[in-house]
Amino acid sequence: MQSLWNDQEAASFGTDLLGQRVYTSRLLGRNPELVLHGGGNTSVKVEEKDFFGEPVSLCYVKGSGWDLATIERGGFAPVRMSALLKMAELPTMTDEDMVLQQRAAMTNPNAPAASIEAILHAILPFRFVDHTHANAISALTCNADGEARVSEVFGSRVLTVPYVMPGFILAKTVYDLIKGRDLKAEGIEGIVLLKHGLFTFHDDARRSYELMIEMVTQAEEYLAKKAGAAAGASAEAQEDLVGLAKLRKAVSKKRGHAQLAKLDASAVAVGYANQPDVATFGTRGPLTPDHSIRTKRTPGFVGEDIDAAIQKFSDDYTSYFTRHANGQTMLDTAPRFVIWQGKGLVSFGDTLKDAGIVADIAQHTAATVQLGQAVGGWEPLPEKDIFEIEYWDLEQAKLRKGPARKVHQGKVAIVTGSAAGIGFACAESLAEQGATVVGLDLNPDIVEGMARIGAVGKVVNLTDDAAVQAAIAETVRNYGGIDIVVSNAGIFTAGQYLEDLESSNWDKALAVNLTSHQRLLKFTIPYLKQGIDSSIILVGSRNVKAPGPGAASYSCSKAALTQLCRVAALELAPVGVRCNIIHPDAVFDTKLWTPEALQRSAERYNMTVEEYKTRNLLKAEIKSKDIGNMVSAMASPLFAKTTGAQIPVDGGNDRVI
Ligand code: ZN
Repeated sequence: MQSLWNDQEAASFGTDLLGQRVYTSRLLGRNPELVLHGGGNTSVKVEEKDFFGEPVSLCYVKGSGWDLATIERGGFAPVRMSALLKMAELPTMTDEDMVLQQRAAMTNPNAPAASIEAILHAILPFRFVDHTHANAISALTCNADGEARVSEVFGSRVLTVPYVMPGFILAKTVYDLIKGRDLKAEGIEGIVLLKHGLFTFHDDARRSYELMIEMVTQAEEYLAKKAGAAAGASAEAQEDLVGLAKLRKAVSKKRGHAQLAKLDASAVAVGYANQPDVATFGTRGPLTPDHSIRTKRTPGFVGEDIDAAIQKFSDDYTSYFTRHANGQTMLDTAPRFVIWQGKGLVSFGDTLKDAGIVADIAQHTAATVQLGQAVGGWEPLPEKDIFEIEYWDLEQAKLRKGPARKVHQGKVAIVTGSAAGIGFACAESLAEQGATVVGLDLNPDIVEGMARIGAVGKVVNLTDDAAVQAAIAETVRNYGGIDIVVSNAGIFTAGQYLEDLESSNWDKALAVNLTSHQRLLKFTIPYLKQGIDSSIILVGSRNVKAPGPGAASYSCSKAALTQLCRVAALELAPVGVRCNIIHPDAVFDTKLWTPEALQRSAERYNMTVEEYKTRNLLKAEIKSKDIGNMVSAMASPLFAKTTGAQIPVDGGNDRVI
């Protein structure tokens, strides 16, 4: 491990103590081998003048909710040293009191809440204190001989503390250990918390940070020598996308709502998943207790029978809860990531970001557990200790802060023909309601348009079966499944009476407006069957029930599409997949309808533009967004009991009614 310190960069953060603290905190945060996603904490002790000009000693401690990688000055909580030191002398203190008193001792009440390790930071008699959950420290200490190994590697440079609950108890344990001692004179430069992490400290910011790098490197070198060639198998994945969708469905059911699944099929992940005893050693526990908030205590292990594996995880979790619960309410029983034999690692989350955080932890966990196993047996914290962290109020509070769920959160949608107009509006409405949307269109604008609404656009000719199949497979590979299909791609081929109708006009209308939809259904149904409240919405036309002359190819293809919907509804109801069709009237708020084109059409009917746009019973202009919102509603639980329906969005039309 290398020090990332750079003089020029350091200076850009300011030469004052807090500026240096921000800089070296970020350096720690930049290295995922040290901390991941909000883990670890840092502090600096500073003499300042308070508002009234009185001198005050403060400990600036990382605020909760901040990530070391991106922390700023405002991410540190200024807590009075006098209060923190007094708290350390109390024989006991409840978590609630500790949090309250830390806040009461802040000179800026608007700063974030100080880390739960603030007292521990304060009692260490060094200006800078750095704390990480380094992988190498876990691999070194999650072992029966952890303590002996620490002294073998670090000698008398560090104090070793057996695992105790973080927060007040840990601070008190260290306080008792260092009371009356002169750590500087003794040459103590760090504290190893067995099965938890490492503290380093120094009066100089750079030295405190580099002590962390130095000690973690020492641990890494020791492990590498011990492990030899034992660790790090790799293997080729055997892809099973329907199996992935099935796995996602089983996990979503236990979670109580749709989850996105992130598959790691790298050779390293598959190598790990294929280790002969991974079902045993891979599910013993996390690297450090606070990972359990994101990942639960253990991952699931999935072999041949996917449903049975998730059920087993759920049953095991329930027993674990029952063994340790003391009045708490059980959380859901779904795994956050699984080790999937032959296939790799799969991580789950409500959003791609959440699943990505879990995937990062899973990846580092796999590497570290494997290393720990290779150097003498992986033995993480006992489940009782993890339970106390997982169900600790202070930790649960972090998760409760999340935003409210959106109606399509965790769902995956494919929308065809979504570069513009109705298709774009459908994609937008679904994305606004939380769906992960993949838009397919022949028009290259699809890429930029979908990016604008946080979706993914792919240039695909929907009449090219192989291209469509590849796009569907990629969607499942990236997100774990498909729940919503909006089959919208279409072309308007009116303008020719039957006796003049060119064959190419007819053939093209059928190819795009009918056959491509049949193919899309055929290719997505295997995944929709494994989806969560799966729903297909076909985009038909008002013309089906109110055709006009000169539009045979368009009207016939849309009428046949309607019949396709009815057959799909009949075939798919037994497997819980709904299929409905929407019949919109023309929308005029698209690029196709320039003011000139509108004017021409209105004149043809002897109407003003306004009359032309609202020529329906309700005198309402139909906008793309009206269709998008209706499609989003049809994919939602509002329509959970509706299938085979034809829904007009046309402002009311007497011929349709
Ligand atoms: Zn920690």
